[in-house]
Amino acid sequence: MNREFLRWLSRVFRTSKDSAETFQWAKVESLPAHLAAKKLYLVGDDECEWVAAMSCPCGCRSVIQLSLARDRRPSWRVRRHRNGTVSLLPSVWRTVGCRSHFILYQGRIIWCHDMPYFDDPFDSSFN
Ligand SMILES: [Zn+2]
Repeated sequence: MNREFLRWLSRVFRTSKDSAETFQWAKVESLPAHLAAKKLYLVGDDECEWVAAMSCPCGCRSVIQLSLARDRRPSWRVRRHRNGTVSLLPSVWRTVGCRSHFILYQGRIIWCHDMPYFDDPFDSSFN
């Protein structure tokens, strides 16, 4: 994990005021027709999860689906934290529609257009 990035992240967390508005997560066997806002759906069975999905946090209501399959590129990693929040890494960058670029980190959306330094800060050390 990149040090500059961690410093930046802690600054963002200190200055943000909406800490109560965190993402929840839900494990589902199949994706519901309508996704609730601020909820990360993890689609899978007891053995594994293969897709994470959410309604785009920018409010455009697009459904974002992300592969969790490790043998696929790109793929994302989900971390559940002890405080009940969830992180999704690496960042999500939509190439169509609203083109949102964000990180879901400990239940919070961090918009990457505010990021002064971005050089794929996440690596396997996040485990
Ligand atoms: Zn959007």
